[in-house]
Order: sequence, then C-alpha cells, then structure tokens
Amino acid sequence: MVSLPKPARSSASAADPPPAEDISADDIFIAVKTTKKFHQSRLNLLLDTWISRNMQQTYIFTDGEDEELKKKIGSHAINTNCSAAHSRQALSCKMAVEYDKFIESGKKWFCHVDDDNYVNVRTLVKHLSQYPHTQDMYIGKPSLDRPIEATERLGDNKMKPVNFWFATGGAGFCVSRGLALKMSPWASGGHFMNTAEKIRLPDDCTIGYIIESVLGVPLTRSNLFHSHLENLQQVSRSEIHKQITLSYGMFENKSNIINLKGAFAVEEDPSRFKSVHCLLYPDTPWCPPQVAF
Ligand code: UDP
Ligand code: MN
Repeated sequence: MVSLPKPARSSASAADPPPAEDISADDIFIAVKTTKKFHQSRLNLLLDTWISRNMQQTYIFTDGEDEELKKKIGSHAINTNCSAAHSRQALSCKMAVEYDKFIESGKKWFCHVDDDNYVNVRTLVKHLSQYPHTQDMYIGKPSLDRPIEATERLGDNKMKPVNFWFATGGAGFCVSRGLALKMSPWASGGHFMNTAEKIRLPDDCTIGYIIESVLGVPLTRSNLFHSHLENLQQVSRSEIHKQITLSYGMFENKSNIINLKGAFAVEEDPSRFKSVHCLLYPDTPWCPPQVAF
C-alpha cells in the first residue's frame, strides 16, 4: 500500500478566519419593515435593486393590502394588520410579527432592516458565516455613544433603572437562531408588545433590552451596518462592496448619501442605490454597460 503524503497546511491568512459554518443566503431571513405610504416611494426601489436578487430570503412587513406588491413577491408580502401610525406600539407590533415569522421559517439567522436600507446579501452571508447560528449572537451598530438609560416598570408602581446597548434598527441588525429561541418568553406571540410597554421604548431598543438586559448577551458591534443617522459621505467607493447595509436620508435639509460617482447621476438616483446595485451586479439588464465610472 502506498502511503499518501500529508496534505499541505492551508495557506489562508490569519486575517481571514475560516467560516464557522458554511451558510448560504437561503439560511437568512431578511425582514424589511415598511408602511403602505412608502410602497411607491421607497419599497419599489428596493424591489428593483437588492431584493430582485434575493426574493427567496426577503419578507416585507407592511400594514396595508397592495395587489401590485403581491404580484411581485407573493406570500413574502406580509400584512401585519398593525396600525399604519409611526407610534411606538405600531412599530413594536410589526417587530413582533417579524419575530414570529422568523421562528416559523426555521432559518438560521434573523436580520431586520428598514425600507431605506440597501442590503449587500453576499457580504452579509460571508459575515454571518463567521459565527455558528446556534451560538448567542446579536450583531449591528449602535446609534448612541453610550448605553441607553431606561426605566423598567415592574408592576405595583415599582420602577428599576436599566442600561443597555442596542443596535439601531435603521442600520439593520441580525440575531442568531440560538439567541432568538431564548428570547421567546419576552418576544413571541403578544409578549413583545408587553415587553416594549414595560420600558416604553421603540422596537429596536426593546430587542436590545431583551438581549442585553434580560438575557445578558452583549451586542457584537459591526461598522459594516449603516443608517442615515451617521454621515454617509464617509463611506467611499472602494469600500462599498465590503459594507453590509447602506442607507440614505435628509439631515438639516441636506441629503445624507454615500459618496459614489456611479452609473446614474444624483438627480436620477438620489438614494445612490441604483448606482450601488450596478456596481455590485453589473450584469443587471438596466445597468449601463461598464464604461469608466
Ligand atoms: N415606518 C412605519 N410606519 C410609519 C412610519 C415609518 O412602519 O408610520 C417604518 C418605515 O417604513 C421605515 C422605518 O419605520 O422602515 C423608519 O422610518 P423612517 O425612515 O421614515 O424614519 P427614521 O426613524 O429612520 O427617521
Ligand atoms: Mn429611516
């Protein structure tokens, strides 16, 4: 019998950790929170760009019926029947439905984004595969530079001060299935709304409260998630493909957008999402041929 030589050690660099788990986009549940009045102005842009490449893993959580939307994404358009107001209760109601649908889906990772986020799913998959989905993982970016100070209502008019970090919903965040299952007593069914009322804070803070304060699991920060609460000009073109989420918005009457001289002018593509999409998926039929831009 011939003895085979031992295989050479892998030459992958130490800066590039091996994936903990070989996941694909199908293992991720991406929940997009929207509201009927933004279906035209915001959601269509997402459906034409990043969602078009990721229909199987994206679920849209809204508050009104829309036949056009159903034609485009079928049962992945979910009418939460939550109120269309921007109130704390209405937003928590939507997050509660997102959580329940994720648990029902059996997928390995829950990621939440707003309807003004672009998601680079390829980078998201790569990032999440660093961690086993059975481990307790809460990944995102805080919008504050210190923990939020809240008051927990304990009943009998008793109050308890609590401090915790939370990942801002407007930048997107992800939770592993292992951790999501542990959140169940405070997040499933009607419990999420009750928990949100106990601290009287918005949906993304409530997620942080359950994970950090109740379960004692720390937020893992990632600078690859971006909301329009930060200066998006600082994301440069050469770095765009490395980012997980992007956003756009207005600040002091000026638009806050990433700095990208791309396929489309700002007038035609004010969010820059069409230009980002053409940079990441140049074979998209509506993208201009790749000349020097
Ligand atoms: N949103 C909602 N109901 C509303 C208003 C907003 O579900 O009545 C959603 C909206 O679609 C978005 C998120 O809440 O996904 C944040 O809204 P927006 O970007 O307008 O506000 P921000 O908090 O980022 O300033
Ligand atoms: Mn926003």
